[in-house]
Amino acid sequence: MNIKTEKSKLNSGIEILFVDVPNQEIVDFSVIFRAGYYYCPLEKHEISHYLEHLSFDGTAEYPSKLIFAEAAEKNGAYWNATTSSYRVRYFFQSAKTEVDDLLKMILSQVYSPLFKKSDFEAEGKVIRNEINRRIASDRWLAAVISGNLVTPRIIEPRQRLKYLETITLKDIKNFHKKNYVKNNTFIVISGDLNNTQKQSIIKRINELTQSVPKGKRNKIIKPPMNDFKSKVVAHRGTSQQEAYHLSFINPEGTMKDSEALKIFSTILNGGFSSRIFHNIRESGLSYGTESGFAIREDYSEFYLNDYVDTDRSLRAFEKAFSIVKSVAGGDFSDKELERAKGYARGKTLRSNITSIDLAGWYMNDFVMERELIDIDDYISSFEKVTKDDVVAVAKKYIKPDNWVLAVVGKEAGKKKSDYKKIIEKYR
Ligand SMILES: [Zn+2]
Repeated sequence: MNIKTEKSKLNSGIEILFVDVPNQEIVDFSVIFRAGYYYCPLEKHEISHYLEHLSFDGTAEYPSKLIFAEAAEKNGAYWNATTSSYRVRYFFQSAKTEVDDLLKMILSQVYSPLFKKSDFEAEGKVIRNEINRRIASDRWLAAVISGNLVTPRIIEPRQRLKYLETITLKDIKNFHKKNYVKNNTFIVISGDLNNTQKQSIIKRINELTQSVPKGKRNKIIKPPMNDFKSKVVAHRGTSQQEAYHLSFINPEGTMKDSEALKIFSTILNGGFSSRIFHNIRESGLSYGTESGFAIREDYSEFYLNDYVDTDRSLRAFEKAFSIVKSVAGGDFSDKELERAKGYARGKTLRSNITSIDLAGWYMNDFVMERELIDIDDYISSFEKVTKDDVVAVAKKYIKPDNWVLAVVGKEAGKKKSDYKKIIEKYR
């Protein structure tokens, strides 16, 4: 694909990453702060998210949320924001010709929100609605409560609702003042821009951020970890089905694990012909099991989850789990290995075509100050993965007791020990 990246640290402290994606009419422009949930005090967990919401409620130049939204959308731009453990990302995706106008909007959005009391009150209710809506998804809930077994900083949603009530407008303003500063600002611009356009964007950023304080860059912090090993949590769900989420935790995972993990995960569950997918569908146990991995600063994991009719959940779980264990032990053919490499190559390529995709590919490594991994190099690295590499990486992640499990469903409480027995059976 021949994607070039260029980092530029401004004298002001703002750090910019240009991702050059040839032949793209669309630009993805993201402003990111290292100011996610982990940077809030535990009992004020929701501040970071609350601030994200208030940043959509107008600025001095666009004095209400409607005026602001109309100005952003009149030419078809998509704009939104997300809050995660480490980061808050504000972005727009628009035609190249719109960048100059939208750049001005997004910078005023992040650096000078109005913080109106009426908006503060309304957004508190909106966030309560948002969390309640998510609680209604058993599968989402299973993932969150399993994370809560690993670290107290991944907070169970009903607790989030309680913490939400304690937040004041002053808390949010203070958080904004400390964290939305130039030294803690990262900007990613992905698209087909020439040098003149890039220079003019940098110049605009400098002009528009003159009055923003420099402040300090937040360090990457590690959350406290619980004694999580072999813990199971159950929760009564809301749907007809039962959701399970099994995570194997590796606090020392690194990006070096990524290629072999990708192949391991693809042998298991990438595509219709993968081992778990094929077996689960063949036996009619489930619509399809999900598995995957994540490498992060807090902890890394390999996970397996599904959403299954209650009367078949244990059988579906046993089938999927036994396959994970056997593939982790090296029970797979050369043909399966080769298929997985080809599938992983094609899938990674398919998911990284547009300027929007590629902003996502490079963003996390940039903000977390990791080495940037060239997308073409990553795709071609799959070819070199051997059977030994897969078995070695599986050993690092799939251990007898480094797991946590959450089960959400009407009978989840009763079935906790059955799930645990299945895991122990395949030690
Ligand atoms: Zn939200």
